[in-house]
Amino acid sequence: MSFQPFDEMQKAVDIVNDSPHPVNKVAATIFGFDRQGRDFSISRTNYWPEIIEARLGMHTDVGDSSGTVHAETACILDAPLTDKTALCVTDPVCPNCAKNIAEAGIKTIYIDHKGFTKDFSARRGDAFTNMSMQICEKAGISVYQIFRKEQRLEPILRIDADYHPAQDSPLEYERLYGVITRKSFAEYVEKMRHRHRGRRFACAIGRDRVSGNVFSLAARSHPVIGYSMATDAPLLRDSENKYNYMLEPINRLIMGAARIGVKLIDGMIFCTNIPTSREQVNLIGGGVTRLYVEYANKALDEAAILAKRTVTTARILDFQDLDELQALINPVQPHEKSTDT
Ligand SMILES: [Zn+2]
Repeated sequence: MSFQPFDEMQKAVDIVNDSPHPVNKVAATIFGFDRQGRDFSISRTNYWPEIIEARLGMHTDVGDSSGTVHAETACILDAPLTDKTALCVTDPVCPNCAKNIAEAGIKTIYIDHKGFTKDFSARRGDAFTNMSMQICEKAGISVYQIFRKEQRLEPILRIDADYHPAQDSPLEYERLYGVITRKSFAEYVEKMRHRHRGRRFACAIGRDRVSGNVFSLAARSHPVIGYSMATDAPLLRDSENKYNYMLEPINRLIMGAARIGVKLIDGMIFCTNIPTSREQVNLIGGGVTRLYVEYANKALDEAAILAKRTVTTARILDFQDLDELQALINPVQPHEKSTDT
């Protein structure tokens, strides 16, 4: 079967009015082939994850993020594999989604031409042109405008076939065998803490969505794929506005997992710091209810701490201490603690 981007865009257009967002209704379709070569096509609107809608409603922010998952990211969260797939979206892509799309390994984006004429697009115009497109260029993502009626594609950004983006800190992942227990997860976390000592990182256990095979995954905080700390430092430091070029470890883990077709296992996710507001919403969107953190009060910004308070109070996401994991490896007897000098 071969995909027609016009048909795939139509699927997104067909559901866009189902978006629960009162103003910014956006839909996307992700399409491609899974690891076993079977075709898939998944369409999603932007939405509030059910548990957020039920417990916080649609008007409560999670830290400095809205409670919504953007349509493009929603597609990534549900796709069986995102590497080398394509995405159709009704509206210009925001920089945060551009970063997710890049990290997830998607190589082509089609944007409906009508998306460029909306109010919403006008408000987002600068961020799209200055940042989303730059992220796509660096990551090697071709971007086209789609004219459905005329069945016409107009390139906005075309990438050379031989372009390979810089990638100086790729996702680490490894196939695991045997039964994975909380104890073996705890041992894996200790191994990664040793390897990434002193850095912000996250690691997890995930399961291949098609084969069921189990993998360990780890990622550090790093600029989005294509950018390098060594050569792009001045640009990367200049991130005082709403968006920046960094991807925090949990987002890298979520998108990296999608890239290899893996879904993170709830309760087998660890992060050194409190994830950002947006990362927390993405985790929730991915069905996560529990994660372990090393520094329960350390985050990139105050908003993340606020987000944590909101989602824990509403019992949406539970943050557990690293100690609880470590206790599985080295059970500490009460008397040993008191005699420790
Ligand atoms: Zn977005």
